[in-house]
Amino acid sequence: MSLSTAGWSGIPLLIIVSLSHGMTNARPPYCKNPISDNGGPVFGIPMETIEDGGYAIRSTFTALHAILQHCLPENQTIRQYLSTFLLFATLLKRAFGPFLENCPENINPKIAILICCDYPFRLSKAFIGFSVIALRRVKDEIIRDRRENLPDLCDPPMARDGYWEPGNCAEAETFAHLRKMANKWKGREMLVVSLALDMKTLEPCGFCYQCRYVIRKLSKECHFVWLDLAPPRIS
Ligand SMILES: [Zn+2]
Repeated sequence: MSLSTAGWSGIPLLIIVSLSHGMTNARPPYCKNPISDNGGPVFGIPMETIEDGGYAIRSTFTALHAILQHCLPENQTIRQYLSTFLLFATLLKRAFGPFLENCPENINPKIAILICCDYPFRLSKAFIGFSVIALRRVKDEIIRDRRENLPDLCDPPMARDGYWEPGNCAEAETFAHLRKMANKWKGREMLVVSLALDMKTLEPCGFCYQCRYVIRKLSKECHFVWLDLAPPRIS
């Protein structure tokens, strides 16, 4: 099976069309880069926790990110969010199994959750993100969107040989929501709990050095405590 997005993107996009309110066909202000270089469908959807207030849907997995933001209830316990996340990751592995097995061996797509909680645990909100999985040109557009939503993704030191580009990771998609969450809860203490799983095996994955760099920077600036549930990565 090829990495074509054509077949995979149809169903989530249809779900988005039926679920969303105020979605516009790739027109500002919901989407900074409304034109796809690839000529494929692009939709802008409002998302209040993104800096610009909008998010561009360019692939199956960006559609899933948007669907989950609309479906995941707020103010759940960390345990409830993690249970939902593990169940969803398991279902996704089952659904996308043949596709994931055809990914090159050195590519391990991830799914990541970021749970923001206030202290003493009255408010919470979770975000689920995915590694960028798409054709090259669409991939470039998604990474460009992510960097525009969160310019800090451009900051990590130069990628090492064979390393992926900053903004490619599943965690990077969730980081874009942190500043708005910190602003929304200004004056409250914020705890950020994260977990990323390899979508092929469902094994926990520690942050890469680029993601660690970005979240440490954000935690200092936004004054939150970060706790990663995966064992640290040796890199
Ligand atoms: Zn990373």
